[in-house]
Amino acid sequence: MPDSISSLPPRVLRVAVPSPLRRMFDYRPCREAPACGWQPGIRVRVPFGRRQVVGVVVECSERSDFPLEQLKPVECWLDAEPLPEDWLWLCRFTARYYQHSLGDTLHQAMPVLLRQGRPLAGRMRERWQALVEPGDDDPRLKRAPRQAELLAMLRQHPHGLPTQAIVAQGYSREQLSTLVEKRLAVREEIPLTAAEPATEQLLAEPALPLNREQAQALATIHERLDAFHPCLLHGVTGSGKTEVYLQLIEAVVARGRQALLLVPEIGLTPQTLARFRSRFRVPVVALHSGLTDNERLDAWEAVASGRAPIVIGTRSAIFTPLARPGAIIVDEEHDGSFKQQEGLRYHARDLAVARAKHHAIPLVLGSATPSLESLYHAERGNYRHLRLTRRASRHAPARLELVDLRGRPRQGGLIPPAIEAIRTTLAAGHQVLVFINRRGFAPTLACHACGWLADCDSCDARMTLHRQPPMLACHHCDKRRPVPDACPDCCSADLRPLGSGTERTEETLATLFPKVPVHRIDRDSTRRRDAFERTLAEVRRGEPCLLVGTQMLAKGHHLPHVTLVIVVNADAGLYASDFRALEHSAQLLTQVAGRAGRAAHPGRVLVQTLHTDDPHLRLLAEHGYDALASQLLAERRAAALPPFRFLALLRLESPREETSAALGREAAAMLREWLGEHAPDVSCLGPVPAPMERRQNRYHMQLLLSGGRRSQLHAACARLTAWLEASPEARRVRWSLDVDPQTLG
Ligand code: ADP
Ligand code: ZN
Ligand code: ZN
Repeated sequence: MPDSISSLPPRVLRVAVPSPLRRMFDYRPCREAPACGWQPGIRVRVPFGRRQVVGVVVECSERSDFPLEQLKPVECWLDAEPLPEDWLWLCRFTARYYQHSLGDTLHQAMPVLLRQGRPLAGRMRERWQALVEPGDDDPRLKRAPRQAELLAMLRQHPHGLPTQAIVAQGYSREQLSTLVEKRLAVREEIPLTAAEPATEQLLAEPALPLNREQAQALATIHERLDAFHPCLLHGVTGSGKTEVYLQLIEAVVARGRQALLLVPEIGLTPQTLARFRSRFRVPVVALHSGLTDNERLDAWEAVASGRAPIVIGTRSAIFTPLARPGAIIVDEEHDGSFKQQEGLRYHARDLAVARAKHHAIPLVLGSATPSLESLYHAERGNYRHLRLTRRASRHAPARLELVDLRGRPRQGGLIPPAIEAIRTTLAAGHQVLVFINRRGFAPTLACHACGWLADCDSCDARMTLHRQPPMLACHHCDKRRPVPDACPDCCSADLRPLGSGTERTEETLATLFPKVPVHRIDRDSTRRRDAFERTLAEVRRGEPCLLVGTQMLAKGHHLPHVTLVIVVNADAGLYASDFRALEHSAQLLTQVAGRAGRAAHPGRVLVQTLHTDDPHLRLLAEHGYDALASQLLAERRAAALPPFRFLALLRLESPREETSAALGREAAAMLREWLGEHAPDVSCLGPVPAPMERRQNRYHMQLLLSGGRRSQLHAACARLTAWLEASPEARRVRWSLDVDPQTLG
């Protein structure tokens, strides 16, 4: 007899529904309770406004702030057992930390099909077993030859058969159910979590013998496999970090646990996956944007049930439930793609830290150019600092050579010494990578008669000139216009492209080096994933060629035949106003440089700049990323910026400038008064217009909160969001709160 009959159902179910509102909604239970009884983590279908939505029970209670008889009953339950507990914990943590609605967090964190109400196969697997002895010629099956056959098949498997195997033989669920009704067979449920993967023959190919630094790093990580044990694996490009991950994962899986590896958006290439899949005999589940909804649900379920011991995924994979968590690894932990920049603005690396702590398991953050946050933690001893200084191949990473752009003629953005270096490299039979941070033909179009520039009507930005196909396009709002034949202001025909983008550099190089193939790699040329892969495959064959690309090329890809890298313009990133701009450009330059000379030949990296004596750039060029990073940390300390203080950014936008500004002023006034009494450590700056104030004809304002203590900053954020939710003026303004913003843009 089920338990739920003996214990009364709760009177009130507190349900998180997919809504931006930061509160729960109360419902009464429906008549029939799920088999496990009402519990947090069960999805329910509920009436919400005029719609029906899928929500999640987060609490069972006897009380409500509303009269019980006014509560609507839930329509039905969708899960016979609650969604995984570690997943619920993570969603609750995320919602609290990022001050986001729990309902929306849960919604974002589950696969699309679960959001739509699709049942989860569950962590139980059905098995079917014959009940009657072999040889019986049962009268109940006289007129049902297919059922008789099915029963005969079941009899051959005294331990039972899973549904899948039976359906695969052409039988239906109905036939199975009929056998059960006739008491000829039984259905039982086996918990999938019990099915630990076979680990005797874990490896499909042997692990590489580690060098001394790798061995030391691995040994340190291994010191404590059942405690929270955060490590920063700080190793130059090509120093063998991935081999360390592989061997850590091996150890984790051998103990019957699961490993989760997060990689940046563009790091999850077929080659990366192939490297893991060829090492292990056990399933390696990949979670990326190319999966169908069904595949995603299958992957989620395989990991949640514990069947798949290894998961590799991009940002959102941090929300994969793990039945037996064993280790979390974040590769290229400094990468910007780990931060979601809209809606639920979480940082997957930071959630990985929280999650590893919660599970009490090792955490490895790997990078050649760690974020200042992680370096700071390593410096303070919060993380173990593991260094790999040697490359597995013969050559040290190339030094950056600064070349002066001032007063030199440019062709497609390139000055004569750079073009000379390309010529020499190609003549030696090697490949060249030209890195340029702008796609399109030229950053904009200008009239040489009157000075007109192609501005976007909807944004405070210039439109980029494209040639393939020809158009002016705004990279901020995606607005497009035909390229004018004459200046709209003075009718002069003297319109010229201003500056260079990937297309123009590609064109120039094709003219200068007509016999060598030029491959352009940017978002426009690689809209299709296979086009990108095909180009890379051709480049790996090693014939001399030129690669022109944006930061898509900077990371992850192994390009062994590239021995010269040219950075067309280092200044754009270095002189951006954002407080992380220098950190991010230094990471990018170092990563780009890491592409050069990975195989048999040493590499050169030429960095074109107008500011060859900029102290930061010189420090980076002469002493490398680590030296610059310590300098930047000192500057952040002096400026009271992260990681020395914590930030939260309120963004406000509306079609009228005054509407967002007025709300910003009101919010700031309210908050300043409140802070004095409740959170004196937090300061509030603004409201000020965003760096690009007008975007898509909407005006953007912002308010910056800064605090030395998380608890006070969080209290202030909670106060602010509560006030905004209650404010009638705020309904006319789109607003969002970004905790730990990556940029102040
Ligand atoms: P990272 O992840 O730090 O960029 P990888 O793990 O990809 O470095 O290693 C770079 C190259 O060196 C790869 O081709 C890898 O197979 C090789 N490698 C790594 N560790 C070893 C080792 N211990 N012995 C021999 N080769 C190694
Ligand atoms: Zn003009
Ligand atoms: Zn625009």
